[in-house]
Amino acid sequence: MARRTVYKGWRPGEEGSEGVVPEAAIIDGRTIAAELRKRVADAAAGLRAVHGLIPGLATILVGDDPASHSYVRAKHAACVAAGLATFDRRLPATASATDLIAEIARLNADQRVDGILVQLPLPAQIDAHRVIAEIDPDKDVDGFHPVNVGRLWSGLPGMVPCTPQGCMMLLRSVRRDLAGAEAVVVGRSSIVGRPLAALLLAADCTVTLAHSKTRHAAEIARRADILIAAVGRPRLIGAEWIKSGAIVVDVGITPMIGADGRRQMVGDVDFAAARSIAAAITPVPGGVGPMTIACLLRNTLGAACRRRGIADPLAL
Ligand code: NAP
Repeated sequence: MARRTVYKGWRPGEEGSEGVVPEAAIIDGRTIAAELRKRVADAAAGLRAVHGLIPGLATILVGDDPASHSYVRAKHAACVAAGLATFDRRLPATASATDLIAEIARLNADQRVDGILVQLPLPAQIDAHRVIAEIDPDKDVDGFHPVNVGRLWSGLPGMVPCTPQGCMMLLRSVRRDLAGAEAVVVGRSSIVGRPLAALLLAADCTVTLAHSKTRHAAEIARRADILIAAVGRPRLIGAEWIKSGAIVVDVGITPMIGADGRRQMVGDVDFAAARSIAAAITPVPGGVGPMTIACLLRNTLGAACRRRGIADPLAL
């Protein structure tokens, strides 16, 4: 059967196209992330050659959570591969907010450090909002500082959170101009759903944020030309949530044991069901996940340039 174009069916006025059941195109996050990482590496080599500048990322890891350790390792490895400097700060699980804030103050003052990332989640005794507010907003490469949240919602330049930024790149890989699209984001966390809603709004989408108290969420989602799932509930989003021809981005990752007894990552979207309805879809794994680290590298490089008044070669 001839494939329908990826975009047909969601443009205003193009509803209900030919009535065939196409198979959605896969949005390959691994390839798109690898391209971005290569661009960061090339830009970093240029900054080093021309300005003697090596952008630096500092991570602060509190406690012994194995998943957090592996995320931080992956971030450091990606920095090294791209030619960025890394600074690895560790605090015990018993550390207080005061200890963490003192470490942040040292990194704020360290001129070698362009980006500071506090790995979340933090132990229960530490209020994440309080410590994130201590990071210099211009070094806040996660984009979680209230100043950067305000900049994002005000349409001002600032640090854009990595996962939402990656989602926008994936969307734009299949549709450059998102203006006028009906976008539904399921999940309203401050690290994914809310900043993504701001980015979609800035791209002239009509945005709805759904959450656990939303009534008739599936019905609302079925209006979406662009459907983002950022919930953390495996395969919550079934066929009845998806409009024919939609672009579906699955942010969810939940580790589960598969039928073969092996650990696997499962998304929020029922991929098999969605693939026969949507026009394009991100897989899990290999969709949004790889974009997050790539965008972290990009933010670190951007921060290094902005702090020194150098034009950012990868400016958004
Ligand atoms: P979170 O802070 O737990 O937020 C989950 C959101 O989903 C909340 O807003 C919650 O609503 C909403 N929700 C829960 N059940 C719902 C339901 N039945 N219907 C509609 N909404 C529902 O999670 P998060 O940090 O945003 O992460 C979401 C998922 O993305 C997780 O699987 C996480 O692992 C993944 N993630 C992936 C990446 C990546 O790099 N790929 C990065 C970050 C997160 P309320 O606000 O009403 O509670």
